[in-house]
This record gives sequence, structure tokens and C-alpha cells, in this order.
Amino acid sequence: MSAAPDAAPVVTRIAPSPTGYMHIGTARTALFNWLYARGRGGRFLLRIEDTDKARSTREATEAIYRGMRWLGLDWDGEPVSQADGVARHAEVAHQMLAAGKAYKCFSSQEEIAAFRETARAEGRSTLFRSPWRDADPATHPDAPFAIRVRAPQDGETVIRDRVQGDVTIRNAELDDMICLRSDGTPTYMLAVVVDDHDMGVTHVIRGDDHLANAARQMMIYDAMGWDVPVWAHIPLIHGPDGKKLSKRHGALGVEEYQAMGYPAAAMRNYLARLGWSHGDDEFFSDEQARAWFDLDGIGKSPARFDTKKLENLSSQHIAIADDAALVAEIGGYLAASGQPALSEAQKAGLLRAMYCLKDRARTFPDLLEKAYFILNQRPFVPDRKAAGSLDAVSRGILAELTPLLQDVSWNRDTLEQVVTQVAEAHDTKLGKVAQPLRAAIAGRTVSPSVFDMMLVIGREETLLRLKDATSA
Ligand code: GLU
Repeated sequence: MSAAPDAAPVVTRIAPSPTGYMHIGTARTALFNWLYARGRGGRFLLRIEDTDKARSTREATEAIYRGMRWLGLDWDGEPVSQADGVARHAEVAHQMLAAGKAYKCFSSQEEIAAFRETARAEGRSTLFRSPWRDADPATHPDAPFAIRVRAPQDGETVIRDRVQGDVTIRNAELDDMICLRSDGTPTYMLAVVVDDHDMGVTHVIRGDDHLANAARQMMIYDAMGWDVPVWAHIPLIHGPDGKKLSKRHGALGVEEYQAMGYPAAAMRNYLARLGWSHGDDEFFSDEQARAWFDLDGIGKSPARFDTKKLENLSSQHIAIADDAALVAEIGGYLAASGQPALSEAQKAGLLRAMYCLKDRARTFPDLLEKAYFILNQRPFVPDRKAAGSLDAVSRGILAELTPLLQDVSWNRDTLEQVVTQVAEAHDTKLGKVAQPLRAAIAGRTVSPSVFDMMLVIGREETLLRLKDATSA
């Protein structure tokens, strides 16, 4: 038994069980595996652990694909279906049997239950010790049997974990686990090991809820004489109150975050920081994450989910994103949240206005709220707040401003000059003019600066909107 050397080409995987949605924890595990492989020129594989037929519907698997795609976590090759490997899993169980590393167990459910009951009553360990472990094959009945791996009974098993350190399990605590059930179906524990081995997985990075499984899985690696992968069991994600993340804390499915309007780049950045750190770096690009990501940076204590941090990163990623890419991603957000798609004209408008929308928008809904002035058409009916700043006096000021905008050159400096001039003439602050102007142009109080809006929509449209507001 030897750990795969770090120098070997890296192969990682994510092995989700389809449950109907992609859990945020699964997404983070996928991201860690993806970053680890991609940062090392390695391969990142996807295996759907779909042996539970009742839960593993096509829709549930699709939800995983969608989550992965949204996050931009591309995998190499075709996804592997664990259920497709049943014959291979059984073959390995029989190989272990032939090599004497496993044995046939004819104990029935009832016998096992009775064993446990007696053990409990006598205060002994309830770990099942099969009477067939050392039975003479001549005594084997002609009956269905399970294949159990022969677990070491003395000594210790050490899991050399890159996150948890050396974790020692007393072998007395391990039972001869079943690899192949009496109906010929493989157990989960066997399937995982065979698949990981056959897929050439060198590094298993997964939640630390699987740490105990590692000790049991090592028995199979041992029995087959296979290289044990590098283990990295990462602490689970907790809620802000320090308890295991649950529905109480908010959304658990990655797609819900898409529907809330977080850009995928922000989600990747945020999830990467959830349990992993690189110095004090909070905000970083995919490229940086790929270059920096390492198992040494994974913390031993559970990370806490913090929506404020996510929002903060989200606004920074929106601010630096490419304008056209943002328009495209907003399309994905609208679809994910069940809203109507943008028309071509709206997309074009959004693209033109993007430079003044993407600053300080925490999410896409935030950004779209500011984009109201470009996504809609005249006449703009001001909402209650905006209507408040369009009183008679203000409308009078706007009526004065309108002709002044007729012939001036349409650039920021000139527009500022003209509006300031009108404000001064009324002995008032720029804001006093800008407010009704904003209400007239956007019909809303949340918008980019009035000058940006005027530049984006142009002179003609500005004048029309002012006329609408002043003649109302
Ligand atoms: N299918 C397991 C899960 O969804 C993952 C198993 C593994 O990573 O080894 O938690």
C-alpha cells in the first residue's frame, strides 16, 4: 500500500449522488477538485453515484450537470455512471474472493440481527463477526452468499489525510464489510473504490463526513494491491451560527444562487474561500485561484457561510466583468429565476449602459433595477418615490432646462454645466435639479447618474422624456 506520489499526473473527481439539486457543499467540493486538477494540468472527472435507483432520476442528474455548467466547472470526458459499473464491481469482489482477501458469508439478516442483539445484551461490541470467515469451504451450503472483505483484526489503519493529518483507526473497530450482497449487487463502499481506481483518481478531495469511509475503503485498496489515492477530507460548511449548514440558514442549492442573481465568478471566488485561504486574499480571479489553490491552504475547522461576504465579492466581480459577458450571464439569471428573456433591443441597451450599471451592483436584480431607464420605453410613469420629486416647482425647473439642452454638445462636461447653471439660477444645489431630472428620465429613484443616463439614451430621447414629465 503506497500513496500515489504527488508528482504523478493529477486526476480528481466529483462524485455526487443525484438528490434533485446540487448542494452548495457538493459545489464547493467540485470546485476544490477542479481547481486542484486545473492548476496542475491534471484531469477532473465527474461520476454520478446513481446506484440508488429510486432517487437517481434523469432530472436529478440533470440538476447536477446544470449546477456544474453554471459554475463553469468543466469536466473531462463523459460523466461516469456508477450504476453502469455493476458487473465490474462484482468482478472485483470475486477477484478478492479468489485471492482469499474476501470470503463467502452465508449468514442471513436474521442471524446477523440475533448476533447483534446478543452482543448488546452481553455488553460486547455489536460489530458483526461472521462465523464464515474461517469456515472450511467443504461446509459451505448451496445457498446465496454475500462477499465480505477480510478486515485486519489487530493493529491500526492510518489514514494519511492532507487536511486532517494522520487519522488512526483501531482495526478492531472495522468489521468485515460486505462488498457484494447476496443478491449480487455491489455495496457503495466497493463501487467507490473500484470506480476511483479504474478512473485513475490520484486525489480524493471530499467532505469529512466520508473520513470514516476512507478507513474501510483502504481495506479494498489493500486487498486488491492498488495504490491508495491522496486523501483530503475537508470540513463541512456551517451556517453563521456554527451549526451544520441547513435549510434554516438559507438556500442550499447552487441553482438558487443563480436565481438570486449572483454571477458564477463570484460564486466560485466565494466557494473557494469557504474553507480554503491564500494569505489574506479575498477577491481573486479564476486564474489566480487555479495558480494558488493547494491542499495546504484548506483549514481544519468548518467554514461559516456568510451572505454578506458573498454579496461583497459579487459586487466586485460584477464591477470588473466584461460588459457583453454580463449581458449574457444576466440572460441566464432571468431564465433561472423564471423571468421573461430580454429582447434584442433591451440587450443592446443594456450593453450600452453597462459601464454605468455594473458599479456597486451587488447582484443582477440590483443591476437590473438601475437599468430600468434603458430597459423600458416612454412614457415613464414615475413610481411613488420618484413622483414625489416631480412637484410643480421641480417641473417648472425641468421645463426651463429642456430648451437649454436642445443645441448643446452632448457630452458629460457640457451637460453638467447646463444643469449646474439652472441650479444656480434657482439658488439651489445640483441635487435639487438632478432629482426631478432622474425621476423624469428613469421614473425611478434608483438609477445611474443623470448624466450617464442622458449620454446613454441620447439627446432626442432625453428631450422626449422631459417633455412627458413637464407636460403631465
Ligand atoms: N456520493 C458521495 C456524496 O455525494 C461522494 C462519495 C465520495 O466523494 O467518495 O457525498
